[in-house]
Amino acid sequence: MTARLPRLKLQSGIDHYCVIGNPISHSLSPQIHRAFAEQTAQQLDYQALLVPEDAFAETLCAIGSQGMRGANITLPFKHEAWAICDRRSARAERAGAVNTISFAEDGTLHGDNTDGIGLVRDLRANLKVTLRDQEILIAGAGGAVAGIIDPLFDEQPAAIVIANRTLAKAQSIAGRFADRGSISVLEYDDVAGRQFPLIINGTSLSLRNELPPLTAGVLAEFGFVYDMVYQSQPTCFMRWAAEQGAASSADGLGMLVEQAAEAFTLWRGVRPDSQAVIAMLRR
Ligand code: NDP
Repeated sequence: MTARLPRLKLQSGIDHYCVIGNPISHSLSPQIHRAFAEQTAQQLDYQALLVPEDAFAETLCAIGSQGMRGANITLPFKHEAWAICDRRSARAERAGAVNTISFAEDGTLHGDNTDGIGLVRDLRANLKVTLRDQEILIAGAGGAVAGIIDPLFDEQPAAIVIANRTLAKAQSIAGRFADRGSISVLEYDDVAGRQFPLIINGTSLSLRNELPPLTAGVLAEFGFVYDMVYQSQPTCFMRWAAEQGAASSADGLGMLVEQAAEAFTLWRGVRPDSQAVIAMLRR
């Protein structure tokens, strides 16, 4: 069993962090965290670990005992990470998913979820999108969407509406956050006739160059569209938004960097300059 675990080279005298996922080779997290470390003059090492799908728990145990200080968690392990953590932040608790783990000195694991705050910071601080009093349509109801609802409600939108292929998943998320504000669910077909000034694509469809089945006219005039997927070119959802007359649109690169900045701040106690790293990655 142990032979299947990723082999680590942990130098002494330096703090070690990693991102764990499967697949992982595409991950930009090592590049992002190394850039943050350089900016803030922090001595640390950050690696990407490919972990077999059935070996997540034993990997965490192994890297914790070898002195790993923290780990970012990506697909498909965020729910398993939530279940394994000994303590969870309030936002991770509600999201039902953990994307940032801190290894405490007593051996316990503290889980957090920085995806949602990453999205909100990108929308509000980087893209200057107004969230307060807006009606927000979210397409998709997977793990990432569960993580963004709480921080979105902190911005006091008028309402959040979730449309998803599997309605039960949208209903489950809406039920969990009903005490935070107006949240409802719709079949994609029932979105027709409604208009939203902000649409967030939280599905994975852009990765396959496919669109969620939203009808024309759903985006309000001068609306804004955000695709959580990021690619080197505008995603197909961003191109669709342009056809719908969107004032502007963005992909999820800013969210990725902002969620990493939040994790880095939790681990190191110093906030990096995320905008400089977004600009570096765009180049
Ligand atoms: P999940 O696999 O948990 O959810 C995928 C979502 O896409 C579900 O709502 C699913 O619907 C929907 N979907 C998939 N295929 C189809 C289809 N053929 N038709 C309609 N809907 C479909 O993934 P995550 O929630 O973890 O991630 C979603 C996306 O967000 C990913 O592409 C990921 O890369 C991105 N992401 C970006 C981040 C960033 O920092 N920028 C952070 C986290 C995620 P159903 O429920 O019906 O299956």
